[in-house]
Parts: sequence; structure tokens; C-alpha cells
Amino acid sequence: MLQNRIYFDNAATTPLDPIVIEEMQEVFKTHFGNPSSVYSYGREAKMRIELARKKVAQLLNVKPGEIFFTSGGTESINSAVHMALCDLECKAIITSEIEHSATLNAIEDLSNRMDVPVHYLNIKENGHVDLDHLDALLSELQVKTYVSLMHANNEIGNVMDIEKAGAICHKYDAIFHCDTVQTIAHYPLNLKDNHVHFASGAAHKFHGPKGVGMLFINSDIHVMSMLKGGGQERNMRAGTENISGIVALAKALEISLTEIDTVGKEIEDLKKYFIQQLQKELPQITFNGDWDGSCLYNVISLRVPYEEAHNMLLMNLDIKGICVSGGSACSSGSQSVSHVIQKVYPDIKQTPMRISFSKYNTKEEVDRFIQILKETL
Ligand code: PLP
Repeated sequence: MLQNRIYFDNAATTPLDPIVIEEMQEVFKTHFGNPSSVYSYGREAKMRIELARKKVAQLLNVKPGEIFFTSGGTESINSAVHMALCDLECKAIITSEIEHSATLNAIEDLSNRMDVPVHYLNIKENGHVDLDHLDALLSELQVKTYVSLMHANNEIGNVMDIEKAGAICHKYDAIFHCDTVQTIAHYPLNLKDNHVHFASGAAHKFHGPKGVGMLFINSDIHVMSMLKGGGQERNMRAGTENISGIVALAKALEISLTEIDTVGKEIEDLKKYFIQQLQKELPQITFNGDWDGSCLYNVISLRVPYEEAHNMLLMNLDIKGICVSGGSACSSGSQSVSHVIQKVYPDIKQTPMRISFSKYNTKEEVDRFIQILKETL
């Protein structure tokens, strides 16, 4: 599908599912009306949005009124921080230094401006955040606290125990934002039972389009609007809606969650095959994070002992048609070693490489990739 190239960077973004493209095209052609208009074109467009919201809510086992469509993960994360500090009047923040830069930078900016202290959780040797530290910190802090932790780390793939994190936050009445950008549509989530107040998602991580995402806001909390302007999204996020994007997000989520048992298992098997073959062919390569424990089934982070500059390895692979990431490829395009790898492995000088699979990858691609990597090294 990708002209002979091998695309192993699905944690950065995924190719669109053809069924999702079809659905978007249908919306582009038929529903150009402004959803706020009262005549039929507007009402029909509005109807598509509300049907999409209902579907997303149903798939995530929450209420339609708890789903808000945004422009993506970054906007959802920024909005949650803003609402926690400004509307819920949180007076302390707990997060970790290995969160996505959307979380780190949004928190740094607003906490500085509002003079709210930020506490960073200890990171364990295997790259997991220390949830006992979360418990200890919350027991010391005597103020309403905003906790923002990612469900799965986009760089090393570690999956946090969301149930435990949610229970700890609940015990201390803290506001819990979970960055679920890498797990929505990849796992069946149980947001309400896990005491999550905010959860963020982005359609392009599950074969939907870029520029559309969602924010779950638990109806137990009462917040004001994210973006001021018109009355869209029930007065919470102003601006004419991205109708085709929203419909596509719902469709992509539906496909992913319907396929989760079959496709999820195939991807997991592909990752296992990749690890086996790599260990056989290139035993000098090791793995980052909790790779054989609580880790995303589609992501594996490698450590390549390689003397040449980091950029050169990725570039040489690119020339040979291989698309992989050296860190977080979804941010600036720069290939300096990621803040996550630096934090978890401060003393290790080897080159990190993230491989992330999707349903469009095959064993043949794995074999070809390992052959090319071997030659390149
Ligand atoms: N959070 C995580 C864990 C991510 O992986 C990403 C994107 O890579 C984001 C947030 C930001 O999402 P977006 O780029 O869609 O705004």
C-alpha cells in the first residue's frame, strides 16, 4: 500500500483505513452545511455529529454528554490542564517527566503563570511511573490536586496500571487526567470505573484523519468552556465543527474496537515474531522499557549499539525505504534523543529506535526490515 516502503511508525501516526476515507468523502460531498444553521443542510450535518458522538460514547461506555470533539490530543490535553486549574481550582499538579510534550509544556506554562507547584513522580528502572510515590505525594498534599499521567508511553510503550492510578486519585479526591492517546481504540477502556475525570484521544493514532480528537470529561465534574466563541459542542468548544473528521473518528474507533480481538492479536503476534527474529539475527540489540511485561502490543523500543551518529542510521534506513522513529517523531521533526529515553536511561549512549506496527504490516516486512537493518549496521 505504501509503494514498497516499510512503514513501522504507527505510534507517530497511522495510514487511513479505506472505509474511513469513503465515509469522509461521503460527508464532504453531502454535508457541507454549517451544523449551526437551522435549515436542512445544517440540521443534517449536526445530526451526523451527534450520531458520531453517540457512537463514540457507546464504544467507550460513557455518556454522549461526556464526549467533546477537539482538534487532537494536544488540544485535549491543554484544555484539561486549563479547566483543572481555572475551573476546578486545583492548587497542585502531579505528573511525570516522561509524559508527552503536550502535557509537559502545557503544565509548565500554566503552572508558572498561575503559580501552582508541580511535582514529578519517580520513574522506576523499567520506565514505569512509581504509583506508590503518587500515593505518598497525594497523602502529603493537603490541597485539590490535578494528576496527569499517560496510560501508555508513546516512546517506550510501557502501559501504566490505570486501575491503580485511578484508585489512588479517587482515594485522595484528586482530579485525574489520563493521556489515552496511544490506547484509545487499541484497548477496551473503562474510564468511569477507573475514576478518570479527563481522557484525551486523537483519531490519527487509529487509522482516522489528523486534526481531530476527543476529550472525555466525566459528568461528575463541572467545568467551563475550553474555547470561547459560538455555542458549538454544547457551549464547551466554540468553532464550526470538523464534520467529516468527527464522523471519521467515530468510524475509525468503531472499526478498531470491533477488530480488537482479531487484529490486536495479529499485531501482537507480529511484534513477538519481530522480537524473536531480531534476537536471532542481531543479538547485540536490546530493548527499552518493560518490553516483555506491561507494554503496548504494537510498540517496541530498541537500543542499537552503533557508533555512527543517530540521525545517520535513520536516514540510511529511510534511503532504503524504511520509516521508523528515533524518538518521538510526532513532535518537531528533530531527531535528538527523546526526553523519555534520556530520563529512563541517562547513562546509555546507544541509539534508540522505536518500531510500531499496525494491521497493515506483515511478516515479510519484518523479515525485509531485519535484513536491511543488518546490512545497514
Ligand atoms: N499524547 C501522546 C501519548 C501522543 O503519542 C501524542 C502524539 O503523538 C499526543 C499526546 C499528541 O497528539 P496530537 O499530535 O494528535 O495532538
